[in-house]
Amino acid sequence: MALGLGCSARPGKAQENRTGSWRTFRPEFMHDRCTKCGMCSQVCPEGCIGENDEGFPVPDYDYCKGCGLCVEECPSQAIEMKKEEK
Ligand code: SF4
Ligand code: SF4
Repeated sequence: MALGLGCSARPGKAQENRTGSWRTFRPEFMHDRCTKCGMCSQVCPEGCIGENDEGFPVPDYDYCKGCGLCVEECPSQAIEMKKEEK
């Protein structure tokens, strides 16, 4: 069978391809420091940060790829990356 040129993986964001199984670090949100500014959910490339009933950010770990962008952009240091425990 001849292989076609280019990438063999299907295109799509992690929103369509669950990433939780290969993540090494996960973001932990500390709501006591959070000002609900919404920056983390705006910068998340997977769009996987939602809100709880009180308006605090809550990540969907099934789709978070552990990139750490939310940690970098949080102005209140309310998110920390923690080593994933398998
Ligand atoms: S670590 Fe990356 S993918 Fe996960 S919630 Fe933060 S910005 Fe989104
Ligand atoms: S960026 Fe930080 S302070 Fe702003 S909503 Fe997210 S966790 Fe809270």
